[in-house]
Amino acid sequence: MKLSKLAKTLKPSATLAITAKAKELKSKGIDIIGFGAGEPDFDTPDNIKDAAKQSIDSGFTKYTAASGIVELKEAIRNRIYSDYGLKYENNQILVGSGAKHVLYNLFNVLIDENDEVLIPAPYWVSYPEQVKICGGVPVILNGSQEDDFKVTPKQILSRCSKKTKILVLNYPSNPTGATYNRKELEEIAEVAKEKNLIVLSDEIYDKIIYSGEKHVSFPELSEDTKERTILINGVSKTYSMTGWRIGYAAGNSDVISAMNNLSGQSTSNPTSISQKAAIEAFSGDQQKVTEMLKEFEIRKDFISSFLNKIEGIKCFVPRGAFYVFPDISYYFGKKYKGKNISNSIDFTDFLLEEAKVAVVPGIEFGSDNHIRISYATSIEDIKEGTKRIKESLKDL
Ligand code: PMP
Ligand code: GLU
Repeated sequence: MKLSKLAKTLKPSATLAITAKAKELKSKGIDIIGFGAGEPDFDTPDNIKDAAKQSIDSGFTKYTAASGIVELKEAIRNRIYSDYGLKYENNQILVGSGAKHVLYNLFNVLIDENDEVLIPAPYWVSYPEQVKICGGVPVILNGSQEDDFKVTPKQILSRCSKKTKILVLNYPSNPTGATYNRKELEEIAEVAKEKNLIVLSDEIYDKIIYSGEKHVSFPELSEDTKERTILINGVSKTYSMTGWRIGYAAGNSDVISAMNNLSGQSTSNPTSISQKAAIEAFSGDQQKVTEMLKEFEIRKDFISSFLNKIEGIKCFVPRGAFYVFPDISYYFGKKYKGKNISNSIDFTDFLLEEAKVAVVPGIEFGSDNHIRISYATSIEDIKEGTKRIKESLKDL
């Protein structure tokens, strides 16, 4: 069959592809340690599962409004208000089938052919691809490890053109774990105002932030940032609910209304049962979130210090999220089994073959000098996997 032009340009999500590959090798009995998936290993908390069971038992198993039920929108509004003091109305909230779906809807309703979208790198794999699917042009702003992977207002300004429409922010960041403080965000806000940019602020890791640091939400900075920002979040990471597929957008009511129309013509509502579970997630006991954060912090401390002790590896210590993004370029030019390691894909292949460890090549996130390791897995696996990495590198 003849595929569309769009279909021919699509590429698989690297994060999902590597996770699937590691699972397949495991199912064949190969002892692989999987550091691919950005997916917490914890079980979804019981109170949330109970709310879902209750939803099924009470027959709440039918279509709902495409943009989500009012009760869930209210739980989201209350959550944003109690966390950041921000007030939204129900018509400013859209619930979708995961943050990825919400982002896709958002790009679709904002981007016209050749509109430019500023994306700080290293970036999460799906932003540039989604922008391209919508006919837009991703404009990549490179953040370097020396600057803690942050982009500066000057950099943003220098890449703005007449076609620039959206600035994507994602902090704490997937894949680097970098985040921005209030002052840095205020400086970015000034540029966003000067250039009249729509800011897409993906704050899905806002609760996974270390050393007691407080996350600052972009729309809370001023009336202006609230007006120009579409805030993105969801339940996948904070509540270990990746399979439930609930994400949301909060912001301008015209944008939300257009997204609602798109959902209505494409997916309809996010799963009714998951919506009830998400209400419990946002409104119920938060003890499990604190416990998961504590565990992530232990893992982060271990993995970043272990990697930094390996010859040639330079690892930024994350301030949030659950990934490390070490620079492995020291090993470029080395050989194994007659093969040359000259980029992050070669290095990733080497780790999979020699160390039986699955990671994601940095090139997928816009930096070929790095690899991404997700530490959303047990401390035992982290210890074993990093030991294997260290041992295998000795042979190079
Ligand atoms: N944004 C970022 C930065 C992510 O890392 C992810 C993937 N986990 C998502 C959005 C999408 O999350 P989900 O679709 O599971 O809500
Ligand atoms: N976002 C997670 C990751 O980066 C899950 C996979 C995906 O949605 O791309 O690994």
